[in-house]
Amino acid sequence: MIERRIALPYADTNETMKLIADLVSIPSPSGNTNDVITFVENFLSELQVETKRNRKGGLIATIPGKDTNHHRMLTAHVDTLGAMVKEIKGNGRLRIDLIGGFKYNSIEGEYCQIETSGGKKITGTILMHQTSVHVYKDAGKLERNQENMEIRIDEKVHNAEEIRALGIEVGDFVSFDPRVEITPSGFIKSRHLDDKASVGILLQLIKQLKSENISLPYTTHFLISNNEEIGYGGNSNITPETVEYLAVDMGAMGDGQSTDEYTVSICVKDASGPYHYDLRKKLVRLAEENKIPYKLDIYPFYGSDASAAIRAGHDIVHGLVGPGIDSSHAFERTHQSSIEATAKLLYHYVQSQLVQ
Ligand SMILES: [Zn+2]
Repeated sequence: MIERRIALPYADTNETMKLIADLVSIPSPSGNTNDVITFVENFLSELQVETKRNRKGGLIATIPGKDTNHHRMLTAHVDTLGAMVKEIKGNGRLRIDLIGGFKYNSIEGEYCQIETSGGKKITGTILMHQTSVHVYKDAGKLERNQENMEIRIDEKVHNAEEIRALGIEVGDFVSFDPRVEITPSGFIKSRHLDDKASVGILLQLIKQLKSENISLPYTTHFLISNNEEIGYGGNSNITPETVEYLAVDMGAMGDGQSTDEYTVSICVKDASGPYHYDLRKKLVRLAEENKIPYKLDIYPFYGSDASAAIRAGHDIVHGLVGPGIDSSHAFERTHQSSIEATAKLLYHYVQSQLVQ
């Protein structure tokens, strides 16, 4: 009889896709991420992985390795784009202020949820004030901006007083309906795949390391950061022993980009400058040795938690990889193949030797 355990090559990506669908369904605009962090905390505590929260509200899971003097850190962010109530309008609607970098046209017509500071949740729709074509002749031509767009609340409200009576106030968080769908052809389309797709991949990876009883070469920290979309998610709580710091975040797709929805994207440079050359070469080598489909790419208007950590003054070897996400910060989509390629690369990466 064969006694050797048949190694499950990689984490089950069907399960990862479901986990991603669960993650995107928990509202978590930057600044209001407690619920999703609690979800991640519970997931990890079931696996008996020790976690701690930092003061910013992010979560750090640490798996001790054979070498405890040299550490490695991987990060992915759970915070997403969103908005905040800026003004209670006299017409019974709400003006919003955006959280994160995106354009108003990408949320036109989106269903949303307003969370009052008392914890009440009220739904609505983000619309141009001048939406009705039967009333506004130039409905399609007007600029999609803060002035012209507003939230129509799903309550009988006609003025500011009635809105306030619901408990809604300036500063309430607004989250967008993810509209998540997994198609039979293997796509997952949803808002907030940036970066909950990567969070799902990291969680599944930890689960796999546990179930296969893999002992890691170095103590490895997984930082689930919660302020990336506003620029400073994973730039703290990096131990002085940390040598390599890998951000797992979406690969940017578009004209001239090599990233696609079927491979893992290895970022060589973004708006912050080049990523560490040796680490990038190691990631490519790992992909080639293990026959993992990958693309090298440059992201023009992009920064990551790894570049934020470098900016904050950490002396680390930094890198960035992730699944390719189409129409980022808008109507996002990726394919199971990209999730799988990213998961495979990370599986080999966490077991590899450090570059220095
Ligand atoms: Zn991101």
